[in-house]
Amino acid sequence: MRLDAPGPGDDRAPGPPRRPWLAALVLACLAPWAWGGGPAGGSGGGPDGLVGGPPGGVRAGGVVSASHPLAAEAGARLLEAGGNAVDAAAAIEFALSVVEPQSSGIGGGSFMMVHLAATGETFVIDSRERAPAAATPAMFRLSEVPAPRLFEVASGSGLSVGVPGTVLGLATALERWGTRPLAEALAPAIELAERGFPVNRFLAASIAKDHGRTRLQPETAALFRPGGVPLAEGQRLVQPDLARTLALIARDGPDAFYRGPLAQAIVQAQRRSISPVPAEGTGRMTLDDLAQYRIAIRPPVVGRYRGWTLATMPSPSSGGLALLQMLQMLERFPLDDKAASFGFGATPTWHVMIEAMRLAYADRAVWTGDADFGPVPARGLLDPRYVAARAAAISPLRRMPTPAAGDPRPFEPDAALGAERLPPAPADEEKGVHTTHFSVVDRWGNVVSTTSTIETLWGTGITVPGHGFLLNNQLTDFNLAPTRDPATGNPGANDVEPFKRPRSSMAPTLLLRDGRPVLAYGSPGGATIINSVLGMTLNLIDHGMTVQQAIDAPRISVTTASGAVACEGGPDFMQPPIGAMGFAALAALGHPMPASGRCEATIGSVQAVAIDLETGRQSGGADPRREGTVIVLPRPGPAANSPR
Ligand code: GLU
Repeated sequence: MRLDAPGPGDDRAPGPPRRPWLAALVLACLAPWAWGGGPAGGSGGGPDGLVGGPPGGVRAGGVVSASHPLAAEAGARLLEAGGNAVDAAAAIEFALSVVEPQSSGIGGGSFMMVHLAATGETFVIDSRERAPAAATPAMFRLSEVPAPRLFEVASGSGLSVGVPGTVLGLATALERWGTRPLAEALAPAIELAERGFPVNRFLAASIAKDHGRTRLQPETAALFRPGGVPLAEGQRLVQPDLARTLALIARDGPDAFYRGPLAQAIVQAQRRSISPVPAEGTGRMTLDDLAQYRIAIRPPVVGRYRGWTLATMPSPSSGGLALLQMLQMLERFPLDDKAASFGFGATPTWHVMIEAMRLAYADRAVWTGDADFGPVPARGLLDPRYVAARAAAISPLRRMPTPAAGDPRPFEPDAALGAERLPPAPADEEKGVHTTHFSVVDRWGNVVSTTSTIETLWGTGITVPGHGFLLNNQLTDFNLAPTRDPATGNPGANDVEPFKRPRSSMAPTLLLRDGRPVLAYGSPGGATIINSVLGMTLNLIDHGMTVQQAIDAPRISVTTASGAVACEGGPDFMQPPIGAMGFAALAALGHPMPASGRCEATIGSVQAVAIDLETGRQSGGADPRREGTVIVLPRPGPAANSPR
């Protein structure tokens, strides 16, 4: 990470003021793929390159980075009013539910990683959806649906609605760690829903993309395709029902959502049988499930990479474990060394990344799930001896045969995990690629990194009638077919169970030095999330990039042991760094590259904030793959409640 190079989000870079906080710098990363000039050198790397910018840095009054400018503005408004990072994060998450309704919202769930500057504590507020009490391991066996279509059909069904967590998570976050009332955090979102806002090109594309065949249910279609015509970029989207719902929550608190008429409407909406979903595809959530919903506060999973500390997402996400495994595997390669043929974009670098991904995703498929419901061998999976043995399979010369999951149990002190035969992995399932990530730091150095989701684009496609928000389809993150098998020892770690949270890939992450965060980051993208966070980490630590360069740089992703490589290369795959030669070289090593012959995927959407520990300077980066926006508040506003 080069904190000495100005870039988007840098507090010394020029930018147009956009709102009453005239001094704020607003930087929208709207430029098309911006590899221009390429990433900065590959040799700097190393821990020392990360700390310390030039002398004379200005301590900022907080930075927000979100994937939509209006959501970033909502967060900046709270910071400017003297709120802390938790207040701003709540405002951003509520605003995103209005301006990016296809990706996240109050009908979904999220993971909020919080670092408190005053105490040095880092923890996660887990607002992940839970399965209802009536959920069963085999509930996704839909008799009229052939297996290849199951995920698609289940995704548009009430059966896949998990009990939403976002409202309780944000209300609790504000109550315990915020300084502002819920109503104030909701105010920007309510205004946006009431007055409307211009549809951006990403929302317009999402509306146009699904032609109503399977996903957008009638209330949703009425909102986004009035009169059957999809809203186009620039048209105004007004959401009066959502505005009323948010105002109700502002007035009455989370009970307005989890009990009473709104809860009844949610239960009703997920019970409808929707063509082409057979009757057994209706939802199982009850009023009790909503009333009994609980968030969890969890310690992060912590690991090290080249002298840096990472605090990342524990169970029920697989994100943290897989990320830390991959980093440990890659630490043995001199990724920054161009003389040794490594460096950013070099074929050997992509190759070892792909191999580490395949090994980690093989383990992820078998061993990870909600640890509140069954033991996850987290310590075994991260034991250096176990990881070294796994990484020994990485050959510099060729793609390894499809790896099976390893057996971390000999390295696992948790006796609850037996030592039976190695379990088989469940079948790979095609998962969605949506969701949203944002990051915040406030003037006191409190940091929040949140990934928020309704699972796939548009969730179930079901809008709660009269209330204006979409219901998630998060339960499709479970194994759709049960895999628990006492005969083989398969833990069925991600099989459906009542009240259980489906395995996630979301990985809000902090990079720390001496216990203090220097970077908060994360990404949406389904299972690719972990690889986007991995790529960011390597770009910063090994490849010496600035935060914005690390975000802009093309990504590569493999999410199964056997799976094909997805890669970015910009609009023209002949462009470096995965140009025609790199593509052919990876194919020659045996990697199944995209059949189109082109690296044309779009992977993730990273929003990050950075803190220079020496100068106190704060900055950020945001992703041009969406309407990523950084707002830097350059100087503290009026005195506010002290941060907690
Ligand atoms: N449901 C996914 C997860 O929790 C996130 C979906 C996405 O990022 O597209 O991992």
